[in-house]
Amino acid sequence: MRILLVEDEAPLRETLAARLKRDGFAVDAACDGEEGLYLGREVPFDLAIIDLGLPKMSGMELVRILREEGFSYPLLILTARSSWQDKVEALKYGADDYLVKPFHVEELLARIGRYSSVARSIWTPPRRRSACRASRWI
Ligand code: CA
Repeated sequence: MRILLVEDEAPLRETLAARLKRDGFAVDAACDGEEGLYLGREVPFDLAIIDLGLPKMSGMELVRILREEGFSYPLLILTARSSWQDKVEALKYGADDYLVKPFHVEELLARIGRYSSVARSIWTPPRRRSACRASRWI
């Protein structure tokens, strides 16, 4: 599962990226909204984690543009703002979920896990059919 992480606070970005990698995810990190948009357009991600307060372009704007352009992978918002208006606005623009800072990494991983299990269930291998015993007809 490949994850885009857009977060401008370096310690949080590095800690999260390291933890996600340790848990087996491929992570591409961006430190502002413009870099996030560039990567979000170019790389086939399975999920993006986007901070709302970002330099150059806000996380809200990033969510709006990605959805307008038809990108459908899940977008999980990180925000220090806890006002309900911000949550409603982000969800209206097409975000799938949000987490208010400070949060426990375990909670983020649990939310990501919901989407990775959805991704896994899209394709399931066909059941092997039992071999036909034709010998008795020969
Ligand atoms: Ca920020």
